[in-house]
Amino acid sequence: MLALTARRMGYRIAILDPELACPAGPVADLLLTAPFDDSKALRRLAEASDIITYEFENIPTESLRLIATLRPVLPDPSVLQICQHREREKTFLQSSGFPCPKFEVITSAADLASALREFPDQCRLKSSAFGYDGKGQLALEPGADAGKAWSQANIPRAILEEHVPFVREISVLVARDAQGRSLAFPPFENRHHGGVLERTVFPARLSDPVANQALALARQIAEKLGVVGLLGVEMFELADGRILVNELAPRVHNSGHLTVEACHTSQFEQQIRAVCGLPFGLVTPLCPAAMFNLLGDLWDKGEPDWLPVLGLPGGVLHLYGKTQARPGRKMGHLTVRASTPEEAIRLGHAALNPLRLRASLPPLAP
Ligand code: AMP
Repeated sequence: MLALTARRMGYRIAILDPELACPAGPVADLLLTAPFDDSKALRRLAEASDIITYEFENIPTESLRLIATLRPVLPDPSVLQICQHREREKTFLQSSGFPCPKFEVITSAADLASALREFPDQCRLKSSAFGYDGKGQLALEPGADAGKAWSQANIPRAILEEHVPFVREISVLVARDAQGRSLAFPPFENRHHGGVLERTVFPARLSDPVANQALALARQIAEKLGVVGLLGVEMFELADGRILVNELAPRVHNSGHLTVEACHTSQFEQQIRAVCGLPFGLVTPLCPAAMFNLLGDLWDKGEPDWLPVLGLPGGVLHLYGKTQARPGRKMGHLTVRASTPEEAIRLGHAALNPLRLRASLPPLAP
């Protein structure tokens, strides 16, 4: 989606991806198929490019630093180094005074046992590295056995985090340029299932003070990190209107996919503008919308029948061209534009629930 947008804006594109059948391949002018730590491929990528950016967090920062000796890499590798590692991310948030859930760093069963005494309620053990979409997470009930949980987790480092009884999950995508100017899209309202984003609703149904608090936090975090490009900030809204920051993503974000249809400028274009030194595009909403992720589970009985979905008024189907559908794998998404967020949700559910039934999946919760 980033490459398609860049092409429309007149750029040519070089891609480095370990997978030969990667979605950006067919639109790339140069496709390098190599692991993310292949120094020869990294050098070729740099030499072919004017600007390098990334849209995946689990890239070794050493690779980005190598490229950065040859060409500008934006956001700076130091930003990814913080955001790709929960322990560094949470430590950054806490030490900078941004509100986030209480956590403890865990490196052994003994650490876990003592941290569990401080978190007597439900809590979550989250792997420090390689965690996104709920991966590398273990929900622990009160009285959990530290030794058992630590060996089940089977990871070298983790954080233990309090369970947050949020009323809503939201995200803010803020773009920041090299001069320090920033511009945020209005907040998105998200619902996750099994740790993976299930749907995003736009605009988020928030009171003005909560929306303003979320926007201000995102801008301050982007400023503190020195991001040039987009920063996605995932947050929890509490019953008393307070906000806690859950996660940071220095890249285009799944919750921003609906900006393609619902905003003047898409998140993809805004990212390209920010890293290429162009002025920001307008972030004004055009219409309410809902976005539904299409996971590989929907392919359980073969390719879903898209005809009814394609007939949905206001619906826009995006398929990423991934050749293998695995459970949990993001294969595409459906955006539905409507006159209200509620109508967009209703139409999306009506279109997707028959496909879910065919794949033996339960209907989407209201
Ligand atoms: P993460 O990968 O950390 O963003 O977690 C994925 C999802 O799990 C989040 O979007 C929430 O729905 C849920 N989650 C993560 N951490 C917590 C927490 N501390 N309390 C409650 N729910 C959480």
